[in-house]
Amino acid sequence: MLDLRRQYEPLRQELLQAIGHVLETQHFILGEPVAAFERAAAQQLGVAHAVGCSSGTDALWLALAGAGIGDGASVITTPFSFFASISAILRAGAAPVLADIDPATLNLNPAAVETVLEGTRGPAVKAILPVHLYGQCADWTGFERIRAASGLKLIEDAAQAWGAEWQGVKAGSLGDAAAFSFYPTKNLSAAGDAGMVTTNDDALAERLRTLRQHGMRRRYFHDEVGWNARLDSLQAAILHVKLKYVDGWNRARRALAKRYHALFHAAGLVDCGPWPEHGIVLPHEFIGSRHAWHQYVIRVRRRDALREFLSERGIGSEIYYPVPLHLQQALKGLGYAEGDFPEAERAAREVLALPFFPELRDDEQQAVVAAVADFLS
Ligand SMILES: *Cc1c(COP(=O)(O)O)cnc(C)c1O
Repeated sequence: MLDLRRQYEPLRQELLQAIGHVLETQHFILGEPVAAFERAAAQQLGVAHAVGCSSGTDALWLALAGAGIGDGASVITTPFSFFASISAILRAGAAPVLADIDPATLNLNPAAVETVLEGTRGPAVKAILPVHLYGQCADWTGFERIRAASGLKLIEDAAQAWGAEWQGVKAGSLGDAAAFSFYPTKNLSAAGDAGMVTTNDDALAERLRTLRQHGMRRRYFHDEVGWNARLDSLQAAILHVKLKYVDGWNRARRALAKRYHALFHAAGLVDCGPWPEHGIVLPHEFIGSRHAWHQYVIRVRRRDALREFLSERGIGSEIYYPVPLHLQQALKGLGYAEGDFPEAERAAREVLALPFFPELRDDEQQAVVAAVADFLS
C-alpha cells in the first residue's frame, strides 16, 4: 500500500540535520521551529494563519471550539469519513447531524445538507463540516451558496487534502477554518502525530493559539478552558523539511493517478459509474477542482473478494471506510439506522484503495492492474 522508506531515503541527511538542530537547542515545545514551520505552511497554502497542533483530531476540535461551536450547537457532516470528523464535534460539546454523500465524489452532498437543514429540529445548526475525502475538495460552490443563505460557518476537514484546490483556491483557505493532519500516511507527514488549523480570521487564530495551550496567554493565567494540543519542535522541524517537497510529491501522485486511469481503461475494465456494474468505477476529478490524490480509490461490486485476491498476490489494499459513521457502535446514541444514508452505505461496501504513494513504480502499478483484470475475468 505504502512504503514510507522510499520517501525517507533521499531526505535522510536533511532530516537528521533538522532533528539534530532541535536536540542542540533542547527547546522541544512550541519553539522557533514551530513558528518557522507555521509561517512557511501558511505561505504555501496562501492563508493568513497556520496554527500547529498535536494531531488532525485536535485540529478539528480546535477549529470548532475556536469558532465558538459547543454546547447547544449542531454541526452537519458526512457519514462517510474517518471517525475523527464526527468525534471532534462531540468532543467540542456539539451535536453531529449527518447528510448523505454524492456518489460521484463520495463527498458530503450540498443538496442533501439543504434537505437536512429544512427538516432539522433540536439544537440550532451552527456549522457545516465537509471532508475533502481522499484529497478532493468537497463541492465548495454548493457550500458557499448555503453559507450565503444561512450564515452557517464552514469548517474544512482537510486532513487528506494538502495541496488540493477548488477553483484555484487551496484547501485550507476555503472555509472559516480548516483542519490538517500530518499523520504518517498523509500527503505531508510527520514522524508521529501532528496537525494544524488554518484560517484567514485574525481573532480566531489568536484564540486557537490560546486554546492549544490550556487557554493560557500569560503563563499560568488561564483565560478559558482549552486543552494541551501543542505541536512539538521535532515534528515541526521534520515537517518544515518535507514542506519543500510536498508539491513535487503531489505532482507525482497526479501522474500516477493518470497512469492508473490509462491502464484500467486500456484493460477494458472501466464502468462509467457512479456505481459499478460488471467492472470498476475509477475515481473522478471534479471539473474546477484540483485533486490532491491522497488515495486512489476504486469502486467494485465484489470488493471483499477482490481484496482477498490481491492479498494472495502480495498486493496491499485498504478500505476507507468499511463502516459508515451512523452505523458505528460508538455512535448508536445518535439514533440513526441502516438505510438512513444509502449512498454512504453503498460506498462503504464498494470502495477499495489501491497501492498509491509518490514513489510507486511503473511495474508495480502494472501488476496491480493485471491482478484486478485477472480477478474480473
Ligand atoms: C487522518 C484524518 C483525521 C485525523 O487526523 P489525526 O492526525 O490522525 O488525528 C481526521 N479526518 C480525516 C478525514 C482524516 O483522514
